[in-house]
Amino acid sequence: MAILPEIEKQSLSEQQRFQLEQLHLTLEYLQQHSPFYQRLFASHAVQPDSIRSLDDLVRLPTTSKEDLQRYNMDFLCVPAAAVQEYVATSGTLGSPVTIALTEKDLQRLAYNEYLSFGCLECSEDDIFQLMLTLDRQFMAGVAYYSGLRQAGPAIVRTGPGLTALQWDTIQRLGVTGLVGVPSFLLKMIAYAGEQQIDCNATTVRKVLAIGESLRDDQLEPNTLARKIQDAWQIQLYSTYASTEMQTAFTECPAGKGGHHHPELIIVELLDDEGQPVPAGEKGEVTITTLGVEAMPLLRYRTGDICRGYYEPCSCGRSTMRLGPVLGRKQQMIKFKGTSLYPPALFDLLNQVPVIDEYVVEVTTDETQQDDLHIYIATSMQHDACNRLLEQLFRHKLRVMPRTSYITDAEMLRLQFPEGSRKLVRFRDLRS
Ligand SMILES: [Zn+2]
Repeated sequence: MAILPEIEKQSLSEQQRFQLEQLHLTLEYLQQHSPFYQRLFASHAVQPDSIRSLDDLVRLPTTSKEDLQRYNMDFLCVPAAAVQEYVATSGTLGSPVTIALTEKDLQRLAYNEYLSFGCLECSEDDIFQLMLTLDRQFMAGVAYYSGLRQAGPAIVRTGPGLTALQWDTIQRLGVTGLVGVPSFLLKMIAYAGEQQIDCNATTVRKVLAIGESLRDDQLEPNTLARKIQDAWQIQLYSTYASTEMQTAFTECPAGKGGHHHPELIIVELLDDEGQPVPAGEKGEVTITTLGVEAMPLLRYRTGDICRGYYEPCSCGRSTMRLGPVLGRKQQMIKFKGTSLYPPALFDLLNQVPVIDEYVVEVTTDETQQDDLHIYIATSMQHDACNRLLEQLFRHKLRVMPRTSYITDAEMLRLQFPEGSRKLVRFRDLRS
């Protein structure tokens, strides 16, 4: 059974016509129910009637992450009694944000991941292992769980970590699909090697890979993806999502960017001046949620920098696709005249197999410029490792950051600072 709604096969202009109608409903809803947007609309003299096409969106003010942090509960459009669940962002940048969901929002969230698993072409014969937490106010775990229930595959909730348990369950139940973090797959591969488990002889065929990019700017597999697939010939499906969006963009087998679902969200890609970028250029993903009841967002600037792809896809969907997150807007580093985002540095460091772990740190030097410093844990001789890195960095990025070699224990302290819910590979200490 193929999961492919009619709207996703229609032309982009038909999709936009549909989205415009939905946008008007959203504006009306915000005007009636959202304390935050009522104030914003009043101060910007917003007239919903003046929006005649999606191009007119630029006339409306944008919403920032800081707005959501500062006025968090002013975004709530329903009485507290109507809230069914509270989730929170991970707070990687700044303080965490609470997102409230009604029962209808939870159903929308399930439908959203139902569409994602449709992109993975899964069926009732599949068994999916969820290698992520459903606790700690983490929205994604619940989203995948409920999406799988709608899509039909059986579910195994193993949670994050515990490599031995993951393999044991895969072998016992004949698991065919995984949902998890790509770098954890590398740990599973290493464990399989130690235990003489032949990854390729198991029943696992596909992975919904969350949290980390698997493609470079040309949509080719990046180092992390290549490392996984060299050892384990499984299909990796990249997905991009966030708690605030309550929506995911998941790849189909063509692997040419994550599919947009026009019934759930409006996407704009904006430049630094807030203007739409030309098609194919990279810009800040700015979203308007559709059909969200408790905390809808209008023109919310995610801070994520992506490219859009607009030609129809070989899978039969004609929806726009989003490329990998090339970086976060606030994390852009200007180092010796070169503009970089942390993922490009990670991809380079991942190419050096002898580097066990690393942390990239950016500070402000005495001339107010960004300064880059990489902390490395390796068993390799430090001079030799540095020569290797120097070659790679000069060739790919034209610049060489400072390096420091630290012990595994020091690395652990850097990567898991107190209060962190996930591993930190980028430290932004700029003033
Ligand atoms: Zn496709």
